[in-house]
Amino acid sequence: MPIDVTQPYDDGNVFAKILRGEIPAKRVYEDDHVLAFNDINPLSPTHILVIPKGAYVSWDDFSERGSEAEISAFVRATGKIAREAGLVEPGYRLLANVGGDSGQEVPHLHVHIFAGRPLGPMLAR
Ligand code: AMP
Repeated sequence: MPIDVTQPYDDGNVFAKILRGEIPAKRVYEDDHVLAFNDINPLSPTHILVIPKGAYVSWDDFSERGSEAEISAFVRATGKIAREAGLVEPGYRLLANVGGDSGQEVPHLHVHIFAGRPLGPMLAR
C-alpha cells in the first residue's frame, strides 16, 4: 500500500525499528548519519537499502529539512557502499521512490542500490 508522504514522520515504520535495533537487518554500512542493509526481498543479486539515521519521510522531506552534514554524508555513503561492493565497473542503479505514484511503501527515506545483473529498462512501458 503506497504511503502518504505529506504526513508527518511515523516512528513506528519498519526502518525506524531497524535503526532502534528492534528488528534485525543484515547491515552492510554504518556511520554517524547513515545506515545501509540488505533488502529483505531482493529484486537483484545485490539489493541494498541506504537510509539516513534522521527522521525523514522521503527524498522530498530530506532535501528540504536535512542538514548539510546529513545530506553530504548520505550522498558520500551511497557512493562508498557501491564502490566497496565492487559495483562501479559492472554498473548499478540507484532508485528512490517518493509517494503514491512511485509505490513507496516504507515512510522513511531510502535509496535502493540494485546490481549484479543487467537491470533492463528504467521503467516498464
Ligand atoms: P519502497 O517500495 O521503495 O518503499 O521499498 C521498500 C523496500 O523495503 C522493499 O524493497 C522491501 O523489500 C524492503 N523492506 C521491507 N521491510 C524490510 C525489512 N524488515 N528489512 C529489509 N528490507 C525491508
